[in-house]
Amino acid sequence: MFDTEEQQDLRAAVSALGRKYGREYYLTRAKTGGNTDELWAEAGELGYLGVNLPTEYGGGGGGITELSIVTEELAAAGCPLLLLVVTPAIAGTILARHGTDEQRAQYLPGIADGSHRVAFAITEPEAGSNFHRIGTVAREDGDDWVLNGRKCFISAVDEARTVLVVARTEDSATGKLQPALFLVPTDAPGFTRSVIEMEIVAPEKQWMLYLDDVRVPASALIGGTPDAGLPALFSGLNPERITVAAMANGNARFALGRAASYVGSRTVWGRPIGTHQGIAHPLAHAQIQVELARLMTAKAAMLYDAGRDLDAGVAANMAKYAAAEAAWLAVDTAIQAHGGNGMTTEYGVASMLGGVRSTRIAPVTREMILNFVAQHVLGQQRSY
Ligand SMILES: Cc1cc2nc3c(=O)[nH]c(=O)nc-3n(C[C@H](O)[C@H](O)[C@H](O)COP(=O)(O)OP(=O)(O)OC[C@H]3O[C@@H](n4cnc5c(N)ncnc54)[C@H](O)[C@@H]3O)c2cc1C
Repeated sequence: MFDTEEQQDLRAAVSALGRKYGREYYLTRAKTGGNTDELWAEAGELGYLGVNLPTEYGGGGGGITELSIVTEELAAAGCPLLLLVVTPAIAGTILARHGTDEQRAQYLPGIADGSHRVAFAITEPEAGSNFHRIGTVAREDGDDWVLNGRKCFISAVDEARTVLVVARTEDSATGKLQPALFLVPTDAPGFTRSVIEMEIVAPEKQWMLYLDDVRVPASALIGGTPDAGLPALFSGLNPERITVAAMANGNARFALGRAASYVGSRTVWGRPIGTHQGIAHPLAHAQIQVELARLMTAKAAMLYDAGRDLDAGVAANMAKYAAAEAAWLAVDTAIQAHGGNGMTTEYGVASMLGGVRSTRIAPVTREMILNFVAQHVLGQQRSY
């Protein structure tokens, strides 16, 4: 990669932290219904959770490039932390860019030091990939807002103190509904949740959220005005896509690392199986795809950090697409290279299937990215 010396040091230090905890720690927590509190807390203490946040709020003053390094290296060490792509990437960016002074002071220091996790809720059962159709509504009532609606597949709500909820408000001038973002405490009256059982081996659980007359003060509205909603939302989605790509790249490196070490030592016909091209070439092919995805991810992060939001949008979508495809290929190839051991608990590669497969679906599906590229890069008419 094009890391500066400082970024190389960050990469090495985060990698060391990830290896200190390691895959066993991550899998044990995932399989026993636990979470990764100790790793999260230590990453916060060391400044890794706030690398992209402003220094005046306890952050590192870096960008999405640095946060991608943190996300990738923890995943490459076997500890992909899903909340990194939610709390510092989405909520941290939105608050830093669009929060009021009061909101920044209240939330950013806790996000940076790891004491305040924020989940993000946009997806709804009826709207799915079409967020323009979300039905969660926020109604102004005196100095408060009252929220009603349902959200699905919201990650790690049980670990979060706050959920950044995307709702709709009515524009008083035009009567049109427009998206607005609200900081909703997870213990607010009327806010309930139920777990969605998933075939994913990960500590983070997925939740249905129910908002029934959830009342929040005016200070919970991001930017202090509903007009801040759309720009705030868009500024959070690219960091999410870029860090998901980084996590997929780290997962892919972990799987290929495991496979390379296995095929170098496993002997069936008197020679290590890695000497057979039928085994080595698919791994080499996957390695190349992963390096290309890393390159695209670094490009997207650089464009985003340079403030080139339009170019970054295209690159972030492409990076997420490329990284998800490469990670899926890498894990599938790594399993094949392990033979039967690829499906065992002991070797642990199959445990990656659900999580890695999900990155082709979330936070935006591969089909919606292809739609985006066809329309915005190739100039085709919108097909839906
Ligand atoms: C592990 C995981 C974690 C998640 N975490 C969060 C979270 O923290 N917060 C949150 O808000 N959401 C989260 N999500 C939700 C995720 O963002 C959505 O699942 C995703 O955006 C797809 O929406 P959907 O599931 O409703 O699929 P749908 O929109 O129903 O799509 C179903 C299929 O139809 C295809 N499709 C739909 N429309 C078109 C079209 N116009 N052209 C071509 N194909 C189309 C899709 O590509 C997909 O293959 C998470 C999901 C998962 C799996």
